[in-house]
Amino acid sequence: MHDIVDLRSDTLTQPTPAMREAMARAQVGDDVWEEDPTVQRLEAEAARRTGKEAALFVTSGTQGNLVSVLAQTRHGQEILLDRDSHILNYEGGGAALFGGLQTMPVATERGFLTARQVREQIRPSNIHIPVTGLVCLENTHNRHGGSCCAPEEIEEVAAAAHAQGVPVHLDGARLFNAAVALGRPLADFTRPVDSVTFCLSKGLAAPVGSLVCGSGEFIARARRVRKMLGGGMRQVGILAAAGLVALDTMVDRLAEDHDHARRLARGLAGLPGLQLDPGKVQTNIVIFHVDREGGAQELSDGCLARKVKIHQFGPGAIRCVTHKDVDREDIDRALDAFREITKPW
Ligand SMILES: *Cc1c(COP(=O)(O)O)cnc(C)c1O
Repeated sequence: MHDIVDLRSDTLTQPTPAMREAMARAQVGDDVWEEDPTVQRLEAEAARRTGKEAALFVTSGTQGNLVSVLAQTRHGQEILLDRDSHILNYEGGGAALFGGLQTMPVATERGFLTARQVREQIRPSNIHIPVTGLVCLENTHNRHGGSCCAPEEIEEVAAAAHAQGVPVHLDGARLFNAAVALGRPLADFTRPVDSVTFCLSKGLAAPVGSLVCGSGEFIARARRVRKMLGGGMRQVGILAAAGLVALDTMVDRLAEDHDHARRLARGLAGLPGLQLDPGKVQTNIVIFHVDREGGAQELSDGCLARKVKIHQFGPGAIRCVTHKDVDREDIDRALDAFREITKPW
């Protein structure tokens, strides 16, 4: 049990004592000169887990996506993505600003483009028409409540894109959650795509960092782009050390976060004025709608007064994210708060 139940995001996780220990002891060197042995170990481990030739340590998931998108496209091309994707909605328009890319947002049911949508949306060759440079996928999907798609779905989409010569990037900020939820090895999700980003600093609880993985040739380009964006870091093995501990110790326990999210969703589903389908909660994110004027604000204020922090997510919606610093008692305390607040509704 914790004093404050913080369900706003899994990025709020505190590094573990083992991470701090590893950080203090890390062997380091200048990573821009490719002389940091701890970063090299982390990159090798990321490449191994994703089944790719190489990997690159980057500052954040946003930088990982930007580096990947820039390294895969040319100025003026179009990228194809889901309308609710993180790249389109929460990355400051970086692909447009730095890559000169226009986006083709597609509405999807669960956050995942289907192979058919990809076939329909990839542009034909014609001098009037922009060139589709990249297809972007997201797994698990943040705005769709942590939904996950199976490796077979990714294979189909990637095959459709590759058939037209278009590469595929996977924003796998929470890809380990998908792998744990579906009980499949990480590499099954990443094998079909050309590049993938995953975060160490969300449910895996490391303080900083993400990895970009792909072919050796792609990572060489990505390394150049990362430097250009100001992401070349020096004795950054200090951070990579925490990342190695995260991969070692924090992956399997994600199942517990998923249990907590389902417990939360089941409890919420019975409350007046709240709309959610607990059957759709697959990982560590619970998004629900409040069908009452000002209700989402009332809920977050009421929760805060009871030391429970939640995140308002667009008008009339709330997002709760479970993570290692939220235990079962915390979930029950949050449910008590929700129950009290919605009682008169
Ligand atoms: C959090 C997140 C990112 C970006 O990660 P940051 O480290 O916060 O920049 C990218 N994609 C998705 C789906 C995310 O949830």
